[in-house]
Amino acid sequence: MQDGGQGQALFEEMNKQPLRCRVQVILPIERPYDYLLPYGSDGIQVELEPGQVVMVPVGRRILPGVVWDGVADENVPLKKLKEIAEVSEVPTLREELRKFVEWVANYTLSPQGSVLKMALSVPQALENLVGQKLYRLVTDNPKEEGDADTGKPRLTSARQKVIDVITDSGGWTLADLAREAGVSSSVVKGLEKLGLIESYFDAPDFSFSVPKPDAVGPVLSPDQKAASDDLVSRVQDQAFSTVVLDGVTGSGKTEVYFEAIEAAIKEGRQALVLLPEIALSSQWLDRFKKRFGVAPAEWHSDLTPALRRKTWRAVAAGKAPVVVGARSALMLPYRDLGLIIVDEEHEGSFKQEDGVYYHARDMAVVRAKGCSCPIVLASATPALETMVNVQNGRYERLILPGRHGGAGMPDVELIDLRFDKPERLQSGPGWLSQALRGAIRQTLEAGEQAMLFLNRRGYAPLTLCRTCGHRLQCPHCTAWLVEHRRFRRLQCHHCGFSASLPENCPSCEAEDSLVPCGPGVERIVEEAKLLFPEANVALMASDTMTSPAATKAMVDRIQNREVNLLVGTQVVAKGYHFPFLTLVGVVDADLGLFGGDLRAAERTFQLLHQVAGRAGRAEHKGRVLLQTSDPKHPVMQTLKEGDRDKFLEIEAETRARGHLPPFGRLAAVIVSGPDESELDNFCASLARSIPQIDGAQILGPAPAPLALLRGKFRRRFLIMSKRTIAPQGIARSWLAQLKAPSRIKVIVDIDPYSFL
Ligand code: ADP
Ligand code: ZN
Repeated sequence: MQDGGQGQALFEEMNKQPLRCRVQVILPIERPYDYLLPYGSDGIQVELEPGQVVMVPVGRRILPGVVWDGVADENVPLKKLKEIAEVSEVPTLREELRKFVEWVANYTLSPQGSVLKMALSVPQALENLVGQKLYRLVTDNPKEEGDADTGKPRLTSARQKVIDVITDSGGWTLADLAREAGVSSSVVKGLEKLGLIESYFDAPDFSFSVPKPDAVGPVLSPDQKAASDDLVSRVQDQAFSTVVLDGVTGSGKTEVYFEAIEAAIKEGRQALVLLPEIALSSQWLDRFKKRFGVAPAEWHSDLTPALRRKTWRAVAAGKAPVVVGARSALMLPYRDLGLIIVDEEHEGSFKQEDGVYYHARDMAVVRAKGCSCPIVLASATPALETMVNVQNGRYERLILPGRHGGAGMPDVELIDLRFDKPERLQSGPGWLSQALRGAIRQTLEAGEQAMLFLNRRGYAPLTLCRTCGHRLQCPHCTAWLVEHRRFRRLQCHHCGFSASLPENCPSCEAEDSLVPCGPGVERIVEEAKLLFPEANVALMASDTMTSPAATKAMVDRIQNREVNLLVGTQVVAKGYHFPFLTLVGVVDADLGLFGGDLRAAERTFQLLHQVAGRAGRAEHKGRVLLQTSDPKHPVMQTLKEGDRDKFLEIEAETRARGHLPPFGRLAAVIVSGPDESELDNFCASLARSIPQIDGAQILGPAPAPLALLRGKFRRRFLIMSKRTIAPQGIARSWLAQLKAPSRIKVIVDIDPYSFL
């Protein structure tokens, strides 16, 4: 007897296996977990597509995750599976981003969940926000209780804070508004009673104004025009390519890529600009606003939580046409990315060394490929890696030959410190040679500005006891404590430890015996004030520029010529344009050349070239004086000759001989732990299991230069392989053999930039 038809269908329906899917959770886990699709109110499972953001139970927590590609394992028993708790309303993450997350995880040997976490970095942005109670300003007729004279209500400072915040834009939730203004929610409600703000029900507006693409930029020179036409047609073609925009500082690279951004906006696609120090580029933002009439969306660590959420949502919805940000902006969920610019592409700060170790410039090239869009790497001193990619045809190059407006490049002169020794000051040793002092005097007398550059924060890098030779060291790190005289404190620049300067030597207890050794910028400021009492001296370092506003205030003071003698660390090297700055003096040009870093020479060249580029950017000719004890060094010689390509040639030869990047590949393995002997035992077992591989070798273990950091002992291995062999595979199979004890941490750094 056959029972077909209806009975059979019902039977099948009842016995249908509940549907499952894979969800990648934002925990440091390698793969997606399996979950049951959620049940709707009708009792039927809701179908989800890959890329949808969901909240799922993990252990006792509910965490964000993303429905991942691929099918769930049907063999996992049902009772082991949990159900997806909630589906977020945020736009589905595109396949392009999911593939990018997988690629980055695979390349950097990081858990996929950790990489995804960088893309979902704003948990508040994932919340469902439909129909929330929001606040906005009431623009007409505030109720009385006001000032009889002005008719405006008198406000307490707490209330004023709320008004200041809300003025920006409406669409604030009560909690966000109170948090942003730093007041309690009763202050907000009080203002509502007063009738100055009102509430309404809506979804918050997550969007940025569209830049006005037809606002005209400057008339481009023929070279600039050729470069810009080339970039514009690449943007219109919507195809992947990597272009190096190579031109000295002041040649108009920014103006040229602004044209490409305009083209992307016209195509209806998004543009991303990665800058090394976004917080420091008020000048860049001002230029953008001038050119496009509106501000871009910014992405960096200083954003307020509310703005972070707004920006993340706007980017995902395609309502942030242009995003400018630090390296983490690369991980945002763009709706339709049509152009990536990496400005100052040679900058070391594009490498993240924390959590997921990745190089944002290199990963940006991968992302551009996934988005089928061009990527522009702009620099006056492209990295050797980048130039080798130009030579082997992987990248193309556009050259802007001269400075805009015909401003010449500055003359670079070397001061040999072995012969022109800085004289002692009454208060102690001096650091500025006669030649440099003379040049500063001339510059100030001519009514121009001078800058002294030293890439070292604080007053002195080392404090030592004259009696017993004891050096003041960080208790948690292999590092000297740096004196910061402004705060009368000693600081560790690695872990942040700080202590007040002791009166007596902590070792021999001698009185008045501790002396500062060597200069930091604060000490140069002291010398500058002493030698040039009439000058207006100012200091610009990362610890004095504590906020974007502070930086902007300082930049304005320099632009308005309220400062004529500027002392700074590398923060002054970054893209500023001061027309009256004609002299740059480098206090210690050799500083970056020491230490076992394979890129020491390249970095020094780039930094000094960039610092030199601050001099004479307008009609006044610039002059650069480098104080060095090694004037024959190729870095000093090529800087003097202004011959960047010769420097790159010499550098390429040195690297090729040593099979170093980009002619060979590196991966560093950093092993750390709180117990030194446990660490050394584990490293010894790692060393014993080093595999034999043709074309590759593993060196180590060696104590790291920072052998103690934040109280953890550190050892390093280095995997060196031929260009054709990926170090990832070697690291993976070697490290998989041994499980690290729970207190020991093993970090793999592919393509390392730091060797500390
Ligand atoms: P880079 O990015 O290569 O350092 P910029 O784009 O910042 O160069 O240009 C340097 C300066 O010259 C800026 O003040 C810029 O506005 C100006 N400039 C560049 N090109 C032009 C142009 N074609 N017309 C007018 N000003 C220009
Ligand atoms: Zn320390």
